[in-house]
Amino acid sequence: MPDYQAPLRDLRFVMDELLDFPGHYARLPGGEDATPDVVGAILEEGARFSREVLLPINQSGDREGCLLEGGEVKAPRGFKEAYRQYVEGGWPGLAAEPEFGGQGLPHSLGMALSEMTCATNLAWGMYPGLSHGAADALRHHGSEAQKATYLTKLVEGVWTGTMCLTESHCGTDLGLIKTRAVPADDGGYDLTGTKIFISAGEHDLAENIVHLVLAKLPDAPKGSKGISLFVVPKFLPDDNGQPGARNGVSCGSLEHKMGIHGNATCVMNFDGARGYLVGRPHKGLACMFTMMNVARIGVGVQGLGLMEASFQNSLGYARDRLQMRALSGAKASDKPADPIIVHPDVRRMLLTQKAFAEGGRMLVMYTAQLVDLVEHGKDPAERERAETLLGLLTPIVKAFLTEVGFEATNEGVQVFGGHGFIKEWGMEQLVRDARITRLYEGTTGIQALDLLGRKVLMSQGETLKVFTKEIHRFCKAEADTPALAEFVTPLSRLNAEWGELTMGVGMKAMTDREEVGAASVDYLMYAGYVTLAYLFARAARQALQALGGEEDAFYRAKLDTARFFYQRLLPRTRAHAEMIKAGGASLMAMSAEDFGLGFEI
Ligand SMILES: Cc1cc2nc3c(=O)[nH]c(=O)nc-3n(C[C@H](O)[C@H](O)[C@H](O)COP(=O)(O)OP(=O)(O)OC[C@H]3O[C@@H](n4cnc5c(N)ncnc54)[C@H](O)[C@@H]3O)c2cc1C
Repeated sequence: MPDYQAPLRDLRFVMDELLDFPGHYARLPGGEDATPDVVGAILEEGARFSREVLLPINQSGDREGCLLEGGEVKAPRGFKEAYRQYVEGGWPGLAAEPEFGGQGLPHSLGMALSEMTCATNLAWGMYPGLSHGAADALRHHGSEAQKATYLTKLVEGVWTGTMCLTESHCGTDLGLIKTRAVPADDGGYDLTGTKIFISAGEHDLAENIVHLVLAKLPDAPKGSKGISLFVVPKFLPDDNGQPGARNGVSCGSLEHKMGIHGNATCVMNFDGARGYLVGRPHKGLACMFTMMNVARIGVGVQGLGLMEASFQNSLGYARDRLQMRALSGAKASDKPADPIIVHPDVRRMLLTQKAFAEGGRMLVMYTAQLVDLVEHGKDPAERERAETLLGLLTPIVKAFLTEVGFEATNEGVQVFGGHGFIKEWGMEQLVRDARITRLYEGTTGIQALDLLGRKVLMSQGETLKVFTKEIHRFCKAEADTPALAEFVTPLSRLNAEWGELTMGVGMKAMTDREEVGAASVDYLMYAGYVTLAYLFARAARQALQALGGEEDAFYRAKLDTARFFYQRLLPRTRAHAEMIKAGGASLMAMSAEDFGLGFEI
């Protein structure tokens, strides 16, 4: 069985040394309770829960999957009991408002813990994970009555939430949805339609399930401007707020899928199900975006957790597995062969995993601070800046970390050789589980369009400048630090190039909008590498300053990892830059006839 130790030392480096979380929490309204002692204790307890409760049921959950019997879904063995312990431990409400029964701790702390859940049991983690988004949508857009009825239950974790968007004919293009909501006499609505791919749509972990559903009202304008959001409980709450009559929503079938077998992916049938409007009519997509933004960062964290899990197990295996001698001569001469960790190519794979995991952790926690500031920041200017940066970084966190997360878990299989392909070791499960993260909550292609089209070009590059200026300030401040030149010189060049590439695409897009789509995924990947380069340069500065103490090994390893990132991963920006500059001509050259289409493109 794969093992996992939460990377608490690295988390402490990122939170305490690199990003000054203690200072951040002390300044944050409501953050005063998150003292270093409290934070440390919570992270340690989260690490224990993940390793002792979630990890042991990860492989068995993958093997067993979920079962649909008589309309009821059973999660794999142990999932319900783990969820009970999770609720009893008060975990669901950690970062929720005290007025709804939460503990009021900062969101960033919840994000740090989420990495551990994703690393040890992604399928299980999605049951409580979706509730956060549902709670957020209700908190921002729900009526007072809806908050009183549903929010407290979601925060306590006794009810869980879902997000019901996708239908068989539409995923990306939600303007096409067909689910209808007809007003009833009592102020409610009756919903009819079928949603597919609904994560945690039906299960036996919680006493009620709160579906947040996109549907169209009879007078809805066409397309995405005519979508409304409804809350549809599995059991209608009775006068005491307890689960009462069964509502007309049910699970028609379970999807058979590539990974996350322990999570129920459901076809949900709404047959005149009673629902209640959340927010204003036809404004549902904006409400749903509240939920989707939270969820998108959450999916980036899934990529992070999975690559850390894969790295730890690859490292353990590479230390033990004996094959061949080092090219330069035997290293473990008392053994019949050297451990494979001596081979440069195995190190390339391990360091790729390590660098992406550590870089990803810095990016997630940097973004987590922005989430705290957007939610609770005192100073309006600081809040506005955080909101801009968060908008820019959300598609990068979501898509870049899941793209490299998939790569890193795949390298994990490679380190194990043929044994990686065998289920017993658990490495192939990590790849299968990681594969979905590039798809749901908007594919990489859609995140890339959001980044380049909506966030960067629609703001005439102003949003990007908020970030590149910060990088520029760092480079300028360290321009005369010789020990950092190996990081600052290339970073400074890339930061300037980022602006030039943006301008180049922007100019082309003025005459041909397809140029945005043609450049977008390479642009997103380029942005991800430069963002991680910035964070690794800061980490290197921190490590250099800390050298000379008792933890030299840790700081030297941090510097080595930063160097590996700069020398062996950052050069990928060259290829992405060339592909961005190549434009869309070769993509669009093939004629409609060549593709067998009956219409002109
Ligand atoms: C296991 C699993 C769990 C899921 N959980 C949920 C859930 O809980 N709730 C929910 O509502 N949905 C859920 N989904 C659905 C998921 O969010 C969608 O599958 C995803 O958004 C993509 O939609 P689609 O599958 O319809 O693909 P399509 O939208 O048909 O896209 C197909 C391809 O075309 C590309 N494409 C589409 N439009 C464009 C464009 N304009 N520009 C460039 N490329 C484009 C896409 O990037 C993709 O590569 C889940 C899916 C799975 C598999």
